[in-house]
Amino acid sequence: MAICNSCGTQNADNTAFCTQCGASLQATPVVAEAPRQLATGQLVFSIINIVLGCCGLGGILGIIALIMTIMAKSAATDADSDKKLHIAKILNIIAIIGISIGLIVSILYMLFGGFAMIMGLLSGM
Ligand SMILES: [Zn+2]
Repeated sequence: MAICNSCGTQNADNTAFCTQCGASLQATPVVAEAPRQLATGQLVFSIINIVLGCCGLGGILGIIALIMTIMAKSAATDADSDKKLHIAKILNIIAIIGISIGLIVSILYMLFGGFAMIMGLLSGM
């Protein structure tokens, strides 16, 4: 399978020119730095998600985002890389929201638990 560097169309191996846009398939490999640089930031974001989310939903989303980011880094085309990075970013945002809600619930639970304990102590006196 030869992937067109111009439009990302998959062409048969023996075709010299892209069936979609006519670009030469023998051309130089894809030189695209921007999405791959973005991917580094996304990678860090995903790792933070995994650490914060631990084994909860946030962590699982973080792991999926990390896999998507690694796939984006090795994607054949910019368009493909962009698409995977976009998915990773959405997953990271959902993970961060999930982790935040989890954290707030935990804090509330601790406060409520502490409050209940104090009330228990007071009523026991
Ligand atoms: Zn093409």
